[in-house]
Amino acid sequence: MTADVTSIDTLVVGAGQAGVAMSEHLGRQGVPHLVLERARIAERWRTGRWDSLVANGPVWHDRFPGLEFDDLDPDAFASKERVAAYFEAYATKFNAPIRTGVEVRRVERAPGRPGFMVETSEGVIEVNRVVVATGAFQRPLIPPIIPKDATLTQIHSADYRNPRELPDGAVLVVGAGSSGVQIADELQRAGKTVYLSVGPHDRPPRAYRHRDYCWWLGVLGEWDKEVATPGREHVTIAVSGARGGHTVDFRALAQQGITLVGLTKSFERGVIAFEADLADNLARGDENYLAVLDAADDYIARNGLDLPEEPEARRMLPDPDCVIHPILELDLAQAGVTTIIWATGYLADYSWLKVNAFSANGKPQHQRGVSSEPGIYFLGLPWLSRRGSSFIWGVWHDARHIADHIAIQRNYLSYRDASQRHANDCRTQGSDGAQPDSRHLADLFD
Ligand SMILES: Cc1cc2nc3c(=O)[nH]c(=O)nc-3n(C[C@H](O)[C@H](O)[C@H](O)COP(=O)(O)OP(=O)(O)OC[C@H]3O[C@@H](n4cnc5c(N)ncnc54)[C@H](O)[C@@H]3O)c2cc1C
Repeated sequence: MTADVTSIDTLVVGAGQAGVAMSEHLGRQGVPHLVLERARIAERWRTGRWDSLVANGPVWHDRFPGLEFDDLDPDAFASKERVAAYFEAYATKFNAPIRTGVEVRRVERAPGRPGFMVETSEGVIEVNRVVVATGAFQRPLIPPIIPKDATLTQIHSADYRNPRELPDGAVLVVGAGSSGVQIADELQRAGKTVYLSVGPHDRPPRAYRHRDYCWWLGVLGEWDKEVATPGREHVTIAVSGARGGHTVDFRALAQQGITLVGLTKSFERGVIAFEADLADNLARGDENYLAVLDAADDYIARNGLDLPEEPEARRMLPDPDCVIHPILELDLAQAGVTTIIWATGYLADYSWLKVNAFSANGKPQHQRGVSSEPGIYFLGLPWLSRRGSSFIWGVWHDARHIADHIAIQRNYLSYRDASQRHANDCRTQGSDGAQPDSRHLADLFD
């Protein structure tokens, strides 16, 4: 998309939704920039997820302000291919300077001058700033519970595609966030025997009183919360846009035929052990669900909204047998389990970023994406500035803040005092078109 460059003011690494949003805002601020993407625009939506995945939020919500999904009903949930096509169209609409198929392999401070040297699969670029938009969900995380050589197929949810690709036999899905519940549901519907290991979770209603959960998060100020509730930072959220969208109800999944078990604890000689916490985890999930209904009812009453009541939303299914008499140990061979799918989250990988922007535990050190290393920015991380930060709609607003910060810094750097202005004027008057001896940082890559 862009001719070869060896220097640029700002480099954006990654062209997922974060990189595309960043490019739009940098363009608006007139910041010369380049986006390098090792694969294709929105690659993770294309190939990093299972075949049937749809967005978790409806298309009226899960989009950027500048473009709608005009081929879909606003309340529909876009397929992952449609989401990827959306970001590709968005990048085209704003003429984003994206180069695909180029990997950034190393970023380090330029020796003896401001800025960074960036090693890519196609050569070295000198830049003043780097925005890291490589995503928070990079390296699949599998807890070291079962040795790899066990006679089992073990995959991460990132590598699951569809039921047909799994070996015959039962499946244990570990993790009951959005990925785990959707994959378990799909496998059970495809005729597999499924065990689902359920840890602590939130399971908000898909919709309540004619409004989607994304709407409730918005009007209740939840998307804008700046810090996670203490103690709930790592609690997963189970929501689903599958089959038109529905509330995740673990008791309904059990009624359907899935066997629920507690948190996966340990493994020894073919037997996997689960915590005795299933009932507690479901109860905490119910509390979260009911708290959302209460907050919604309260909001409706306070604002006198005319939204129909929905008393049936408060009716809970009875506990299934697997909750009343939980399985605490499962002999995998006896149960016919041939596959374990770990829907246990992701880690980020910044091994290529050799800068001073990390805390002692290796986490990015930043304030609203502006890192502790001047010139390095992070975008797309969970809770970067607020709850919405790692989601489609939220990242766009964080990108605007970072672009503003970059524009302000460039302004400072373009300042010249009277003597510099005078010297510059003299040079211009007697100029034969030659460049000044010492160019200012902000001029270098314009
Ligand atoms: C299963 C799943 C479902 C999700 N569903 C939703 C949803 O419905 N709605 C929602 O709002 N959010 C959803 N999310 C969360 C989030 O929106 C996505 O993870 C999204 O892909 C994050 O976008 P991103 O641009 O931050 O990162 P990514 O999409 O991961 O993009 C980063 C890009 O950087 C590139 N890259 C990485 N390293 C380099 C390098 N060294 N050099 C060059 N390029 C590099 C990658 O190829 C990639 O294209 C979901 C997440 C997961 C895991």
